[in-house]
Amino acid sequence: MPAEEVFVALGSNIGDSATIVEGAFDALERIRDTRVTGRSALYRCAAIGEIPQDDYINAVARLETTLEPLILLLELQAIEHAFYRRRESEQHWGPRTLDLDIILFGNREIDDSHLHVPHPEFQHRRFVLEPMLEIGGDRFLPGYGSLSYLIAQAPALELHKLGQP
Ligand code: ADP
Ligand code: MG
Repeated sequence: MPAEEVFVALGSNIGDSATIVEGAFDALERIRDTRVTGRSALYRCAAIGEIPQDDYINAVARLETTLEPLILLLELQAIEHAFYRRRESEQHWGPRTLDLDIILFGNREIDDSHLHVPHPEFQHRRFVLEPMLEIGGDRFLPGYGSLSYLIAQAPALELHKLGQP
């Protein structure tokens, strides 16, 4: 199978989220038959929704893989599980220690009970779109429009690129 380009969104808001997301990027490098070809900066983003919770650290990775989508999903879930473990207390696993979502998988449209691609919400999420633009440049996404168009349409969100003045 020829390699396909995949965008994966990373998010964390429990624990040392910046270190967790950096560690998750390193773990992506170790997935078989897969190369990391883009790694965005880390972004701090206010949580969306009613439940008060800490800000998220978000980022996006671009991969080249010859794995099938459901196999890649299993690899990502294994990484999530590895990071769910809190050293101080094995019982209290944070639900959002690490979230890895497949945003795009080549030009595929997947509607499986375990996997929806493109990710159903990505076009509304500035914390996914901005890092995608950072690593991949502007591009036309069939069925959606250009990344810059989606960013212009996306709801306002407090988003801060880390390491910026
Ligand atoms: P969230 O939807 O907030 O990311 P979870 O990370 O707990 O919630 O994921 C719940 C389920 O979503 C997973 O078990 C997975 O099978 C499914 N899923 C569907 N589409 C995707 C996708 N594009 N990327 C990752 N998981 C997905
Ligand atoms: Mg998820």
